Amino acid sequence: MKKRESFLSYGQQWITDDDIEAVVDVLKSPYLTQGPKIQEFERKVADYVGAKYAVAFSNGTAALHGACFAAEIGEGDEAITTPITFAATANAVLYCGGKPVFADIDDRTYNIDPKEIRKHITPNTKAIIPVDFTGQPADMDAIMEIANEYGLIVIEDGAHSLGAEYKGRKVGTLAHMTMFSFHPVKPVTTAEGGVIVTDSAEYYEKLKRFRSHGIIKYNLSRDEGPWYYEMVDLGYNYRMTDLQAALGLSQMDKLDRFIERRREIANMYNEALKTMDSVILPKQLEGTQSGWHLYVLQLKLDKLKRSRREIFESLRAENIGVHVHYIPVYWHPYYQKLGYRRGICPKAEHWYEQALTLPIFPKMTDKDVNDVIEAVKRTIV
Ligand SMILES: *Cc1c(COP(=O)(O)O)cnc(C)c1O
Repeated sequence: MKKRESFLSYGQQWITDDDIEAVVDVLKSPYLTQGPKIQEFERKVADYVGAKYAVAFSNGTAALHGACFAAEIGEGDEAITTPITFAATANAVLYCGGKPVFADIDDRTYNIDPKEIRKHITPNTKAIIPVDFTGQPADMDAIMEIANEYGLIVIEDGAHSLGAEYKGRKVGTLAHMTMFSFHPVKPVTTAEGGVIVTDSAEYYEKLKRFRSHGIIKYNLSRDEGPWYYEMVDLGYNYRMTDLQAALGLSQMDKLDRFIERRREIANMYNEALKTMDSVILPKQLEGTQSGWHLYVLQLKLDKLKRSRREIFESLRAENIGVHVHYIPVYWHPYYQKLGYRRGICPKAEHWYEQALTLPIFPKMTDKDVNDVIEAVKRTIV
């Protein structure tokens, strides 16, 4: 057994000198925050996906909170989402006083199953929050059809899927609002950062207010003088800085190249692992182009001598940074305390028990990829 020298994490940013210069330039400028870079960054993200508006936030979670606020999710309202996501997706609903309702997944694509969404619609349903898990877009045509039928607002959690495509359209034009995260492991980074894109002028105004204390400087109820502004909503300080936006501008130029490399790596894994009968490879829904944020295998545990935990630990011991995405959200103690019970999404729970994430990020070399393939073939037995 040949162990890798250095630990290979499951995901990692790729920062080069031009990114660093872009940030240093802002440090030398008059604005560290709320300067010109924010709007430039917003414009660039909106144009890239083909949306009218973009609003930048301090992180993706804050952006989701903003979207739930703009959708007016509140006490008594329900929002249907998937259990196979990072907890932040459902937490944003709780922040607004709403109730997350978990619908089961399609275990071929790992994404929320539109048929399961229908089963959970009640008179209190206000929104659907699909997640483009691993970078593969959720089945958005089917989801928008349900939303139109019942008058629901769709907030797409595209934390994994900036640059991904669904039936020839970029993620960002499919839902009423779409969130992108710019955390270092995500498609491109601003260190911490999030964006909501939308075509709605109404949501756009609400989102901008929300990220800055709920303050407005126009349409004021009175005229006290040039200094005067009003706080009309209980907003937050959720602003992105100009430093982050400058990094984001520089990173956006690399997005297509990064995704291309992620696709190459996914293809290398697919080719090398397709002959293993102890694993199920990630399936692509017809017409989608994943951004390949994650590469998740399913282990056929009944065909294996070793448990997932044993496999996980021996790959980690070989410096292969495998991971598991995600623990079903309602399994977390906080959600259990709220009264969610295990068993409500059986497919998601079964899927979780056998999921294993392999490293994938654009900076990986072919040697890194081959190290993973070699270790996986040797270990998953
Ligand atoms: C990363 C992530 C978030 C939150 O984004 P942050 O920028 O880390 O706050 C939300 N949903 C999913 C699916 C994510 O992966």
